[in-house]
Amino acid sequence: MMYMNKTIEELHELLKKGQVTPKELVDESLKLSKEVQEKCNAFVTIIDKPKIMPANENMLSGIPFGIKDNYSTEGILSTGSSNTLKDYVPFYTATAVKNLEKCGAIAINKTALDEFGMGGTGTTCHTGTVRNPWNLKRMCAGSSSGSAAAVASGVYPFALGSDTGDSIRKPAAYCGIVGYKPTYGMISRYGLFPFASSLDHCGCLTRSVKDAAIVVDAMKGIDKNDQTSWDSSNIHLYESIDGKVKGKKLFYIKNVVDLEYYQNPTEEFVSHINNFHKTLEILEKCGVTVEGIEIDRNLLNAIPSVYVCLSCAEATSNMSNLTGIIFGPRGNGKNINEMMKDHRTKGFSPLIKRRFVIGSYILQKENQEKYFVNAQRVRRLIVDKMKELFKTYDGLIMPVGTGIAPLLDNPKDSVSNDDVSVLEEHLQIGNFGGFPSITIPDGFIDDMPVGINITGNCYDDINVLNIAYALEREMPYKNQIAKEGMK
Ligand code: GLN
Repeated sequence: MMYMNKTIEELHELLKKGQVTPKELVDESLKLSKEVQEKCNAFVTIIDKPKIMPANENMLSGIPFGIKDNYSTEGILSTGSSNTLKDYVPFYTATAVKNLEKCGAIAINKTALDEFGMGGTGTTCHTGTVRNPWNLKRMCAGSSSGSAAAVASGVYPFALGSDTGDSIRKPAAYCGIVGYKPTYGMISRYGLFPFASSLDHCGCLTRSVKDAAIVVDAMKGIDKNDQTSWDSSNIHLYESIDGKVKGKKLFYIKNVVDLEYYQNPTEEFVSHINNFHKTLEILEKCGVTVEGIEIDRNLLNAIPSVYVCLSCAEATSNMSNLTGIIFGPRGNGKNINEMMKDHRTKGFSPLIKRRFVIGSYILQKENQEKYFVNAQRVRRLIVDKMKELFKTYDGLIMPVGTGIAPLLDNPKDSVSNDDVSVLEEHLQIGNFGGFPSITIPDGFIDDMPVGINITGNCYDDINVLNIAYALEREMPYKNQIAKEGMK
């Protein structure tokens, strides 16, 4: 009997009735971890002897899960998928992980990511490239690549991710699963390796909307160790999902999505957009109104640049503690500066070195006003525009990316028009505003999954989850398992 292809809701029922034990679930999940590691290279560490927790009334008790390797875990290697921390074993556990452990969930492995979360391909992990379980020649996207590959392969029903630009929501789309980041600060970031603190969110990857609600209910809560966390004890996500969406209103950004705005789109791109529109019809049948609206192209075009400025600047500052002096392998040199230089030169991949160069440039005294402060101003304009729209609409609905997961040896197969960066990067809006945002599966193109995303106003998580749930119910893509990874 296979159990790990079931949802948390289903597993909880089986555990409660005594039809399976936590130990059996753990054994199966460990076995699958090893198989999926061979195919997808999804893990930094497999926790061979996890502490078995008993099943009780808590929906997560006895349930195996994965942890992205940028969450600190006491006594367990936590590398951020970087050579600079390849031997780092923390002495404390991130709050989000602790909260799950308090529920009795059982960590099975630590999943690979783009180095420190910086990247969207799953190709910059110090343990090598993560492959997509639907087709091993394709990428998972990133940075929560290993978590997405594992959940999509049916290693367990959920894994933790983090999301600074789209790192939960894009891999979810490319792997045919659900990725949810709640409102900023709903989950404490204490113990999550910081990338860009004003944009960083904790969240999860699952195979159903209700499972995502169960996991975030457990992870969330105010925490004295994270000053941006807030009290959400009156919010019960799972219990509040009822699928009643009649009368809800959504918008999509017409001048980013609709084909009439693109010259010579590829077949894949056309299928992706047509598929999106078909899904909107399903929502309309559920009683949801969906309107396409235009937003000033100048404002939209600024999204990727604002993201680059702010994320690189914050990352450069946050990661200045990675010197090889306090943790990480010591560099060689005659003095402390030479030692730090050697450690950083050898430790970081070219991609993040490039980002540190951009960040350092932006943070130079003479450039701060021109780049950093201006990027913050434009971020504010984008967020204000969204907040204005959220007065009329319950949320923004958009296709994720421009199609299916690109091939690993040909990283960009996209439309012939150059100007697709807004469609590739629009999920960053959710990070600029700290908005709750969820991706769910939206069918297939050429046997590869694609996703659709719903983003709502801050603190409106229940509304966002409810619309996603109503849509999931009408489509046949709930709890999908990738065949390739399981073969
Ligand atoms: N693709 C984004 C980047 O490369 C996403 C990162 C993230 O969300 N952690 O920065």
